[in-house]
Amino acid sequence: MPITPLMPVYPRCDVRPVRGEGCYLIGERGERYLDFASGIAVNALGHGHPHLVKAIADQAATLMHVSNLYGSPQGERLAQRIVDNSFADTVFFTNSGTEAVECAIKTARRYHYVNGNPERTTLITFNNAFHGRTMGAISATNQAKMRDGFEPLLPGFAYAPFNDLDAALALVNDTTAGFMVETIQGEGGVSAGTDAFIQGLRKACDEHGLLLVLDEVQCGYGRTGKMWAYEHYGIEPDIMSVAKGIGGGFPLGACLATEEAAKGMVFGTHGSTYGGNPLAMAAGEAILDVILEPGFLDHVTAMGDRLRQALEQMIPNHDHIFDSVRGRGLMAGIKLKDSAVSRDFVAHLRDHHGLLTVAAGENVVRILPPLVIEEAHIDEFVQKMSEGARVFAPAVAA
Ligand SMILES: *Cc1c(COP(=O)(O)O)cnc(C)c1O
Repeated sequence: MPITPLMPVYPRCDVRPVRGEGCYLIGERGERYLDFASGIAVNALGHGHPHLVKAIADQAATLMHVSNLYGSPQGERLAQRIVDNSFADTVFFTNSGTEAVECAIKTARRYHYVNGNPERTTLITFNNAFHGRTMGAISATNQAKMRDGFEPLLPGFAYAPFNDLDAALALVNDTTAGFMVETIQGEGGVSAGTDAFIQGLRKACDEHGLLLVLDEVQCGYGRTGKMWAYEHYGIEPDIMSVAKGIGGGFPLGACLATEEAAKGMVFGTHGSTYGGNPLAMAAGEAILDVILEPGFLDHVTAMGDRLRQALEQMIPNHDHIFDSVRGRGLMAGIKLKDSAVSRDFVAHLRDHHGLLTVAAGENVVRILPPLVIEEAHIDEFVQKMSEGARVFAPAVAA
């Protein structure tokens, strides 16, 4: 077989979406799916949200791209709104999550460089982490499946078990720049950092002059019912990568930092041709308009609570495959028992019950609905999930 025109790096399934309507996707043959994957936590407002669609259409007709050679009223506006609603004093816009992580790594290194500690280059990261696919981002995880064949990787990373504060602190030495961690691991299996872990990392940074870099590409931007996942922990990071939900489907990411942490990022140290172009900024503003509406995040929390309750109720009825519920807000996961493989169950739900979810590490089914779901969608989801679990059993036995 000759190689396909589309580089065959994804094991793509048979669902071929051609249209979206709110919380549903419609395939090539007209079949409908309840979309509790949201393009992997991206379509925060579902599909075809009129405010987002209009903002993008209007901006495309007005001005799409000019490069960063010129002043950016659009970028200044969105950056100001993000600064006003986060720990950050400054924002660098990217086109993806991994570029936001890349900027975070560079910002951390430059901080120590301009502080007269150029030897502080190592970021301590965590087992099962996912930070994206650039050379920098794959260097920041110790998952072999992402690294094999791409070495030599970027030096300057050390790895500790997630949620093991003592192990992380034991790695700190004179070359440490800080810690980089997903506040809630997504791809790794929807594992929330414990309070003691996240707060302990913050404290260690304060004591040793290190930087706390959070990767909230997946768990940030309202997904957990707060604007940022770190708000659940009563701490603030120094640097943070954001993407996925920030553009609602338009490719957009951002690296946020405090003034102190960003002090090395001066003229000429970083850049991007597309990053923060007017079209992306219009999409970002439209998303923020909706997320910052009074009551929106409360809605996410309420839907998250309802989803959690429904899942907790459902699980004992199918304890041949379901083990436990995890996650926060509308970033939920069901850990399956060893008798079932999450990837197979996700395929089963998709192919036989018209329900889209995402597999994650640790044999977890990830549940990432649009943030605009209503109770009726949760009811439909639970019904499909229960049916799926009921008829999946014979398939396992067979
Ligand atoms: C998805 C993800 C990334 C990478 O984002 P891309 O847009 O695919 O480059 C980085 N970090 C986390 C936590 C993610 O979930």
